[in-house]
Amino acid sequence: MRLRNISGSREMIADSGFVIHEEDWKPGGWHGIFGNDHPIQIEIGMGKGRFLHTMAKLHPERNYVGIEKYSSVLLRAVQKMEEEPLPNLRFLRMDAEDIVKVFGAGEVDRIYLNFSDPWPKDRHAKRRLPSREFLARYDVILKKEGRLEFKTDNRVLFDFALGEMEAAGWKADYVTFDLHGDEGLMEGNIMTEYEEKFSSMGNPICKYQIYR
Ligand code: SAM
Repeated sequence: MRLRNISGSREMIADSGFVIHEEDWKPGGWHGIFGNDHPIQIEIGMGKGRFLHTMAKLHPERNYVGIEKYSSVLLRAVQKMEEEPLPNLRFLRMDAEDIVKVFGAGEVDRIYLNFSDPWPKDRHAKRRLPSREFLARYDVILKKEGRLEFKTDNRVLFDFALGEMEAAGWKADYVTFDLHGDEGLMEGNIMTEYEEKFSSMGNPICKYQIYR
């Protein structure tokens, strides 16, 4: 998702107290930032942040961190927080390639990837968020019993993700090629912006939950 370059968005992000800025990154320090020892769950490639804002409202007993590369997109999530602030949700504007600089070993309880960019060219495969290169980063920050969830309507990307999961030695709690047709898995499902858009077009939604 790349919105029009909104003038001033970089400055607005730089001034926002909801965003943890690079100078304050301290791997292993997230419980200090939130001021409690609640579990930490993150969404990588959060977009405008509706999924995480809803999750954070539903689960005050958890902390959430949303990661987004572009200021112009993150700005929407920050504006939503200004309208409806939540103590258990914070944001990072960064490329997730650097994720191990922000979270300590085993600091994260759960990682969500929702409708990640497909990067269709082979030479860009390692930029795909469910790639083995990213799984190696998640392996560092995710706690031992932690889980990674991935949803997409892109079957090619999902098949790639299944291959990468196996190659990297991760295992699946479940895999579905039609999330919305599975009553059990739909229980508690929070729709993301992209999920709403693509499922309303009739695209089946694939999902896995994996661990190692
Ligand atoms: N998760 C949201 C949803 O499901 O509605 C947004 C999906 S959108 C297709 C993907 C988002 O991931 C974009 O906003 C993009 O900027 C962000 N993104 C892609 N690669 C990223 C990376 N390496 N680090 C941080 N954000 C990334």
